[in-house]
Amino acid sequence: MAKKKTPVNESNLAEGAFTGVDEAENFGDRLARYGQAHARSLAMLEHLRGAPEVEATKTAAGLATCGNYLHFREYFTVGKVRLHNATFCKQHLVCPLCAIRRGAKALGAYLARWQVIQEQRPDLRPYLITLTVKNGEDLDERQAHLTRSLKRLMHHRRDFNAGTRGAPWTELCKAEGGVYTLELTNKGNGWHPHCHMIALAASEPCQEALSAEWHRITGDSFIVDVRPITGDPSEGFMEVFKYAVKFSDLSLEDNWHAAQRLKGKRLLNSFGLFRGVEVPESLLDEPLDSLPYWDRFYRYFGGEYRFTEESPKTHGEAVGAPALTLSPSTIRAVKSRRGNATAMPPPTNPKSFAVLVHEGEQRRKAALKRAETRSKS
Ligand SMILES: [Zn+2]
Repeated sequence: MAKKKTPVNESNLAEGAFTGVDEAENFGDRLARYGQAHARSLAMLEHLRGAPEVEATKTAAGLATCGNYLHFREYFTVGKVRLHNATFCKQHLVCPLCAIRRGAKALGAYLARWQVIQEQRPDLRPYLITLTVKNGEDLDERQAHLTRSLKRLMHHRRDFNAGTRGAPWTELCKAEGGVYTLELTNKGNGWHPHCHMIALAASEPCQEALSAEWHRITGDSFIVDVRPITGDPSEGFMEVFKYAVKFSDLSLEDNWHAAQRLKGKRLLNSFGLFRGVEVPESLLDEPLDSLPYWDRFYRYFGGEYRFTEESPKTHGEAVGAPALTLSPSTIRAVKSRRGNATAMPPPTNPKSFAVLVHEGEQRRKAALKRAETRSKS
């Protein structure tokens, strides 16, 4: 089937689709999550300081420079706060702050593509598909098993769609586009690699059929979950793009082991209508050009990001253009306008990626608890 080219303006859309989380009223939450993420990076830094390997020393050096300062710009006339500058290590498998920023960027880019696809193909719905392999002691072996099995599943889809003789049908043939990531857990019963996928399909892929197929492919695993993504798509999509943040649920030792084993491996893949989505390299927000702003500098200190008068400039970093100076009367006028604007109900309540991940985990834990209570009673 000929795939329609996605319009070139989608990178602009990416900004609109997800940087909606930059609402000033959500800023406190956002800053708190960044602080928690940075605390974990510092714990990893401590953990690596004692390690003898060169790799550990290099990684630690990166972590030591990451996220010590955050420079935000508050665009006070529109009530938005954007991350303008920061030093990031981009080691997202060991640094949850970088993982959050990267996840948010990927989420934004794929939500934007989904918006475009939806207009052209209103018949498609997003489904969240989870494919797992059985736990095992050897991470390399389990990870390779999952990757190989996914490849085979994808080949089945491609071959059947291409009309290859004898190619088996797969439920994934229903998906006209998909994006998937590989995630890892280890809760004391061995490594458990699994895959979360968003599949765009006109009819729901059948979980039982997919499970049987997956068992034929893997030989040892059949746990598969298929569910439609309803409501706010950013909550469903987040499941797929949080994979790097989830590394921080591992113990420091497991996290470091996994990061070394998976370094350079492709953990995010896409196909069909989701192919070719470009995730911006920069972990900063796009500035809002031509709007006045206040510069706000935050420094990590005593377990959280604190507002500081200090400018990172003194540490040799560029911070961009100086803030506008406004007269007190202009500030009063702007504030009163904002007061009126916030009195009206906001059209949406966008949440930052970090908050989405946190809330997702809370929901999962609550569901688990409910299931446990049910099984006991
Ligand atoms: Zn980092």
